[in-house]
Amino acid sequence: MTTVRTRFAPSPTGYLHIGGVRTALFNWLFARRHGGQFLLRIDDTDAQRNVAEALRPILDGFRWLGLDWDEGPEVDGPYAPYYQSQRGARYRAAADQLVATGAAYRDYATTEEIQAERETAQREKRRFLYSRRWMAETDAQAAAFEAEGRQASVRLQMPREGVCAFHDLVRGDVEFEWALEQDHVVQRADGTCLYHLASTVDDHDFAITHVIRAVEHLSNTPRQIFIATALGYPLPAYAHLPYVAAPGSAEKLSKRKLGTYLKHHEFKKAYDHGAGIAEAQGLSITPVSFSPVVVDFYREVGYEPDALVNYLLLLGWSLDDRTETFTREEMIEHFSLERVNRSAASFDLQKLLAFQERRMQALSVEARVARVLPFLERAGLVDAPSTGDQQARTRRVVEAAGDRIKVAGDILGYPEFFQSDDEVAYDQKAFDKRVRKAGVEPLLRRFRDRLGATEPFDADTLDRAMHAFVEAEGIAIGQVIHAVRVSVTGKAVGFGLFEGLAILGRDACVARIDRALGRLAD
Ligand code: GLU
Repeated sequence: MTTVRTRFAPSPTGYLHIGGVRTALFNWLFARRHGGQFLLRIDDTDAQRNVAEALRPILDGFRWLGLDWDEGPEVDGPYAPYYQSQRGARYRAAADQLVATGAAYRDYATTEEIQAERETAQREKRRFLYSRRWMAETDAQAAAFEAEGRQASVRLQMPREGVCAFHDLVRGDVEFEWALEQDHVVQRADGTCLYHLASTVDDHDFAITHVIRAVEHLSNTPRQIFIATALGYPLPAYAHLPYVAAPGSAEKLSKRKLGTYLKHHEFKKAYDHGAGIAEAQGLSITPVSFSPVVVDFYREVGYEPDALVNYLLLLGWSLDDRTETFTREEMIEHFSLERVNRSAASFDLQKLLAFQERRMQALSVEARVARVLPFLERAGLVDAPSTGDQQARTRRVVEAAGDRIKVAGDILGYPEFFQSDDEVAYDQKAFDKRVRKAGVEPLLRRFRDRLGATEPFDADTLDRAMHAFVEAEGIAIGQVIHAVRVSVTGKAVGFGLFEGLAILGRDACVARIDRALGRLAD
């Protein structure tokens, strides 16, 4: 039996798109399921930029998600190079072979001449089909065109009748009329070759058995089958995956439509949440470089790669209508192309966050501490590397915050536990409402004094001290508890106040209440 070999073929764009990585995941799972190989091929023939630099976020994304590739950049392999930009000679040889067998021809039309034919067809309301007027059928014709100063590109001589029928492992039997195809250019006048030729040659040369890719390539398949057949290649199996649809729409998720998605409530919420975490780490972000459409977003915000992978698995695949949570091993065990849906899978950030929350809560405290420490380090809230004391404090904050820490970056919502007393920022509105209020000042002063005598300084004892205090004062607890919280943490909300006070310790609590009282005099 032949070994299953799949590939993902990114262009070096500088980011890893969610839809793309879902396609990659399905390729990876299929290869792993069948004990085969998963390849990365780099489609960099049109690369304008530095390829290594534009590829790094893509490879980093794969590494972060734990999707290892058996052949491709960095690891190489028996069919290297895996970069299309380094395979030009191979494609040119294939183009020559196509011309030699009559499956393609040298064409001497200029861009303007083709455009003029296209416009005529449009005016006459018929489908454009190239007249083949500048096709050179003999060397003599070619020489004559060249004498006019023309240059040849290579076009496929596509059949103009009949159908191209093939079986798609997701979509079933499909048929395309050959007459709907154009004589596609496979090699430009400057000798460079285009995607359809390059991709077909590579799939053959790399011994790819299953071409698993996005449905937008379904209509490209007939011309690739035409090329492969003309070159005498056995055909791979094809599987075209449904779109990942944008939130609240049936349209394909795209990086360029971010403005529209931001009008969608859930998307905006996820974006704002992530943006806050990124800013706290001093990352300079724009909606284009940093958005829930790209994988980097989830890493920088502190999602669990397993949560994202589990969610991506369900974007177009299901085992049954119940099972949602899968370990890697279970995914590999159960994955099959037969269970891929045909309809678009809607990208639902709320559901992704629910997966994330479940994963996060399933982690041990130690593991959660390990996840959040790099965020604190990057934000400069602890040393890099953090000290033992800082780690111990982090652990207490993580325990006290509990399920409020949904993604690792949520730790940055609690800077007050890592800052010095005079660094704590006050939420001005909360301060005015809770502290700068008639009658609060003397209460705060007396409570501060009571903290001096609270022993031991732990959450239970502090809780009892507060209750004894309000009873002695004859006031409702609300009159003082909010003022204490705002004075000590700077904010009106947070996890259990007494746990927070205990974590900070007596000296910090007293100093911070004094600082708040001092501000009242301003
Ligand atoms: N580089 C192509 C893309 O990004 C690959 C297409 C294919 O899988 O054949 O769409």
